[in-house]
Amino acid sequence: MKCGRDGNFSKGELQRFGNIELSPSSGVLNYGQGLFEGLKAYRKQDGNILLFRPEENAMRMQVGAERMCMPSPSVQQFVEAVKATVLANKRWIPPPGKGSLYIRPLLMGSGAVLGLAPAPEYTFLIYVSPVGNYFKEGIAPINLVVEHELHRATPGGTGGVKTIGNYAAVLKAQSAAKAKGYSDVLYLDCVHKRYLEEVSSCNIFVVKGNVISTPAIKGTILPGITRKSIIDVAQSQGFQVEERLVTVEELLDADEVFCTGTAVVVSPVGSITYLGKRVSYGEGGFGAVSQQLYSVLTQLQMGLIADKMNWTLELS
Ligand code: PMP
Repeated sequence: MKCGRDGNFSKGELQRFGNIELSPSSGVLNYGQGLFEGLKAYRKQDGNILLFRPEENAMRMQVGAERMCMPSPSVQQFVEAVKATVLANKRWIPPPGKGSLYIRPLLMGSGAVLGLAPAPEYTFLIYVSPVGNYFKEGIAPINLVVEHELHRATPGGTGGVKTIGNYAAVLKAQSAAKAKGYSDVLYLDCVHKRYLEEVSSCNIFVVKGNVISTPAIKGTILPGITRKSIIDVAQSQGFQVEERLVTVEELLDADEVFCTGTAVVVSPVGSITYLGKRVSYGEGGFGAVSQQLYSVLTQLQMGLIADKMNWTLELS
């Protein structure tokens, strides 16, 4: 789907996956005017397909587009486009329990612009791919390293939206961490270097007793849809959930730590390395809280338990 600065997107069409044509002076290539989303479709036992909260992705794209000076598709246009793309790719959705179809909506300034300014034309497209587990550890605990020098976001910047440049900013620290054998990087706030932000592509939760704490949304971390869902699930399971500033000391003193995201679902953290000191959690397995929340969320997403929250959208 394309539109000009007026934001009236044309009717979308299905196309075979392939290269797209883009001006060398397009806004996305020169000034990073690009935004994406990520969501998943699961196949149910009865063959129907479940999407998880697609309107949330649509609304997050709208907020991001506003920050990046781009028009965005309406919630209805977004959800209809996701549905059409998923149905056209039904055969690629893995059988129940064998993975999911990852859906990547992309919005970019595709029009040519030489001097710094918003692009005159925008393209919204969606591509999909079957996926299994995000981390090579599968659903086993991951090992994170806390980054002390590089930051992924600054107050007033674009850390709170899903713009492409945020991901370029984490590649250096992430590559260095992976080369040393870590699964990913945990970022701290850039002012005090003391408060937790998030991991390169997921949110973080710290468990102490019956209290589950997670960094509050304040513009520098992505408001994860899994994060929001896990907060509701945890409260419904009787946990006390706190969204606030969480210190690195609390992290090191936690009973359990886990990450949430569309790709990682709920991934338990086995160890954290901070300024060269490694702290391990649990017995090297799934902590009880992560296990419980993972189990409820994935059963909901796969249609194995009743969806009382009305979070799933069923397609056949
Ligand atoms: N933080 C970042 C930086 C991410 O890229 C993602 C993945 N979209 C998340 C958090 C988790 O968000 P969600 O649960 O919506 O996938």
